[in-house]
Amino acid sequence: MNLPQPDLPRHRQAVVDALRQARQACRPLLPDGDERFRELLADLVEGRSRLETIMDLALGLIEEAKVIYQARTRVNCTSCGYCLPCPHEVAIPKIFDFYNRGRVYGLWDDGRRMYKLLGNIPWLPGKIASACVECGACEEKCPQHLSIRKQLKQAH
Ligand code: SF4
Ligand code: SF4
Repeated sequence: MNLPQPDLPRHRQAVVDALRQARQACRPLLPDGDERFRELLADLVEGRSRLETIMDLALGLIEEAKVIYQARTRVNCTSCGYCLPCPHEVAIPKIFDFYNRGRVYGLWDDGRRMYKLLGNIPWLPGKIASACVECGACEEKCPQHLSIRKQLKQAH
């Protein structure tokens, strides 16, 4: 039987591309990880390193980044949308998303800019947190059991 031959250069390039993206994502959080990535990427491109070694290191760094990101996450909202619709049109998951952009990634300008656009452009419908009347309907539906009313106030 003729089995297809692995396309090693293409696969190697795919791993290099994936690691470059991972390095970009980790850069703000793992300053010393940048150096480790740089050296291993150079080795990989020149064919000196085994893919398993690279992948072990990459997975370790991703795990480190995950722990750091989780520690920074202020609102553990998964954007599942079960809390919607809010009877007062509060855009709950979007508000938490914009808030977490600042908290987790330090992108406060981006988060604030998006929050100001909420309800003011067609592709960002809904209302900001000040429209919440604290009826509590959303909290009954949230599978993460978030204190949505309290956290909306913090996000505002
Ligand atoms: S508590 Fe606020 S956000 Fe939640 S459903 Fe009521 S009005 Fe909407
Ligand atoms: S139900 Fe909870 S976790 Fe899901 S989007 Fe609403 S607030 Fe976020």
